[in-house]
Amino acid sequence: MQNEYEIKKEMCEIGRRVYNRGMVAANDGNFSVKLNDNEFLCTPTGVSKGFMTPEYICKVDANGNVIQANKGFKPSSEIKMHMRVYKERPDVKSVVHAHPLYATTFAIAGIPLTQPIMPEAVIALGCVPIAKYGTPSTEEIPDAVEEHLQYFDAVLLENHGALTYSDSLLNAYHKMESVEFYARLLWQSMQIGGPQELSKEQVERLYEIRRQFGLPGKHPANLCPNAKAGKPSCHTCGGGCGTAKAASATIGNADADLVASITKKVMDQLGMN
Ligand SMILES: [Zn+2]
Repeated sequence: MQNEYEIKKEMCEIGRRVYNRGMVAANDGNFSVKLNDNEFLCTPTGVSKGFMTPEYICKVDANGNVIQANKGFKPSSEIKMHMRVYKERPDVKSVVHAHPLYATTFAIAGIPLTQPIMPEAVIALGCVPIAKYGTPSTEEIPDAVEEHLQYFDAVLLENHGALTYSDSLLNAYHKMESVEFYARLLWQSMQIGGPQELSKEQVERLYEIRRQFGLPGKHPANLCPNAKAGKPSCHTCGGGCGTAKAASATIGNADADLVASITKKVMDQLGMN
């Protein structure tokens, strides 16, 4: 179990990764970690997330009010968006918001990431919807995001960026990397004639394996709002996806490794390796 100082150090490390991978410009982006029901650590506003030290990190309560912040630092102006995720998703321990280039390009074009094009993205994300545009720092973004929270662990923010959340800071950050990689592959394949999508059967098998392993978090299933609205979605899951809790205790931070090993197994089965 990490102590508070170690969590702050990890937040600085994740800040460096977010910045160095070009997922934010200047002082953009913010992320938070839940300590308990009424204490949350969050990044400060107005600083580059690539150059933080532990004393930059602020602490807020469940309403986003400051509990502790060193002189010159105040919590992110988008903390309300984080708090809405924690309120609606008690399983979430960390929230990451960034403006990765390709994912944000799709968010600006108003195109959700719904095409099943690679096993890792299908297993980790399913599809990534777009939350309606809201003015930053107001309740508009939390309100827009809310409708997607029970179905997805990653959401694009229209004309803005992306939001991911998971059971640890590392896993929430990895989801952001996965969203961006997925968006980039989709964009690049569109330049050379468009992607070949995985078949319904291939997607179903990936979803089935995901359920068997009981990966934590939410994932599109029959309840996928895109499917309900008759829009394109990877909705062949059959229901119950991501709700299995049994194996989650043994997964934790091994989430990414697990996705990789499951993917390999499925690809072997499908003769894709
Ligand atoms: Zn933003």
